[in-house]
Amino acid sequence: MRQADTLRTAIDIGGRAVELVIRRNKRARNMVLRIARDGSHVHLSIPPRGDLTAALTFAEGKRDWIATRLAARPAPVPFAHGARIPFRGETHTVFHHPGRRRGAVWREGAGAAARICVCGAAEHLPRRLADWLKEQAKAAFAQAVRAYAPAMGVRVARITVRDQQSRWGSCSSKGNLNFSWRLIMAPPLVLDYIAAHEVAHLVHMNHSADFWRLVKAHCPHTDAAERWLAAHGAELHRYGRKG
Ligand SMILES: [Zn+2]
Repeated sequence: MRQADTLRTAIDIGGRAVELVIRRNKRARNMVLRIARDGSHVHLSIPPRGDLTAALTFAEGKRDWIATRLAARPAPVPFAHGARIPFRGETHTVFHHPGRRRGAVWREGAGAAARICVCGAAEHLPRRLADWLKEQAKAAFAQAVRAYAPAMGVRVARITVRDQQSRWGSCSSKGNLNFSWRLIMAPPLVLDYIAAHEVAHLVHMNHSADFWRLVKAHCPHTDAAERWLAAHGAELHRYGRKG
């Protein structure tokens, strides 16, 4: 009988139970431990024939490393009244309007006074704000893709936004594009670049020199956006996380 490919368990890190997901990976030659981008769990990939018990022992031996990495992560910023969150690269203060138009969310003001107002009951604010950010992200990606797809001579079937942990975007051979809604918080050139990147994958399903030539020919801020993501991308995962 074959062992399961995934084992979900918990590991004690400084008195706190941290979820540990051990997964067999066809391409893994060694055990690779990493912290999920949102800090919600620890992920261990092991070779296809790896032993799950040995993997667990391996993870337990890395407790200090896990504790250090978790402690070094930026603090979460839950969606709540008074929270400061980036939207299209500009800091906005979340403002709760308890009584006004139920469920409405809008952006107002500029500079230091810029804010995102959320109506309705306080307990629904985190979900309403997240839903609104996802709508804004989907609209922004749709607009960018509408420009890039004809320019690169491809047809896009469907655009979805999700909370992807490990990638900013992905595409399927059927022409469906999927993006991380968190990019609506980044400066607009970053979202625009990720749109160009995924559309270009419908031409070249790889990261070959031809792929990069195509992306850079259509998106002149490719390098600037890549640099921004390398420096600040991980921070986008702080927002909307519970404390
Ligand atoms: Zn890519």
